[in-house]
Amino acid sequence: MSNCAVVGINWGDEGKGRMVDLITNKYDFVVRFQGGGNAGHTVINEYGKFALHLLPSGIFHKGVVNVLGNGVALDPENLMAEIQTVAEKGVTVDERNLKISDRASLLLPWHRELDALEEARLADKKYGSTRQGIAPFYSDKYQKKTVLAGELFYPDELRRHLKDLLEWKNLTIQRVYGAEPHTMEEIEEWIENYANKIKPFIADTGKLLRQAQANGKSIMFEAQLGSLRDLDFGIVPYTTSSNTTASYAPIGSGCPSVKIDEIIGVVKAYSTCVGEGPFTCEWFGEEAEKLREAGGEYGAKTGRPRRVGPLDIVATKYGVQVQAATNIALTKMDVLSYMDKIPVCTHYVLDGKQTDEFPFPAALNDAKPVTEYLPGWKTDISGCRKWEELPKEARDYVTFIEERIGCHIGYVSVGPERDSIIIR
Ligand code: GDP
Repeated sequence: MSNCAVVGINWGDEGKGRMVDLITNKYDFVVRFQGGGNAGHTVINEYGKFALHLLPSGIFHKGVVNVLGNGVALDPENLMAEIQTVAEKGVTVDERNLKISDRASLLLPWHRELDALEEARLADKKYGSTRQGIAPFYSDKYQKKTVLAGELFYPDELRRHLKDLLEWKNLTIQRVYGAEPHTMEEIEEWIENYANKIKPFIADTGKLLRQAQANGKSIMFEAQLGSLRDLDFGIVPYTTSSNTTASYAPIGSGCPSVKIDEIIGVVKAYSTCVGEGPFTCEWFGEEAEKLREAGGEYGAKTGRPRRVGPLDIVATKYGVQVQAATNIALTKMDVLSYMDKIPVCTHYVLDGKQTDEFPFPAALNDAKPVTEYLPGWKTDISGCRKWEELPKEARDYVTFIEERIGCHIGYVSVGPERDSIIIR
């Protein structure tokens, strides 16, 4: 038995979905332990192309049990829509291959609205929320002002609880934002149309995973977003509202005793970032447009054009450290094939000094990138399946990064399809 976590090293969108999809069949359980429907994992396989938001990527593999742990922001409305989307493509989703923790907190009807109201209030100082209600949800979770999935089995208690929460939340909605209050009728509809629909999937998943461990089963933990969006270690306040780092997996999955043997950190061969916040190595203009087009860099959830730039060694090295990554998957190498020379941001300049240490968030705005160029390979590498098949320049690029970030690169991805991968 060995357990593994697949996590993002940078700002998210590194290609975690394709990595999870590649190795899932080696695991008995795939667990999402944090986050909600605010990001999308793109998976391309025999069923088609999918942007998974909440469903674990193991959903496509027969025999894999997929778990949504207590750490996720469980939005019944989004989850049911997502289940329908994959089911329409012939994927089986039932109570045998999908389990929702009874201790997962529910994202309530007002959370999405509160996101939009707050972003509107912040106007040009906004944090770049995807408006899926994630920040209001986690704030309420930590104030103990939301409900647990398991409460759906106690309908009288649930209604009393939701009525109290409704009264409390309407104070904010009306008095702070001047918006329309929510009503108990709406809540009833939400229970009927969405919340009750997830009941068949709800289980004591902590117990299930503890038993799985005792029986020698293997577990994969799947994270959303990346190190720099981690609530504690990321570019605060332009982070998400949960911990995207592997060390949170035992807690967010409900299995505190679990040992994670391998942490695969996913890094894109260049940098992308969706939304607001400092992005030191950012490119603009024609150069940016070319890279964005080459990589198809538009948000999986929002369709927003992603900000792009060269690989950022400073941020990546830090990301590797906070994830405690033991192996790296470098994705989208094929996208760089058009470049004559490959740019890499190796250092930042801060206060007139060169550094390769990732700065404190407040200092990031003044950081300037130092860029080095490596020779390009100028040939299509998407058909390469072995390390030796890669042109020397491409291999040199990989080993250059490896040395600088201090972690072995065990996977090089050269295309979005499952088998477009080189394993070293
Ligand atoms: P995630 O959230 O980390 O899973 O990343 P996204 O799904 O947002 O973005 C990854 C995108 O890159 C998806 O469209 C993938 O299909 C695609 N992708 C992943 N690996 C590769 C690769 O090696 N080459 C190319 N060309 N595309 C890739």
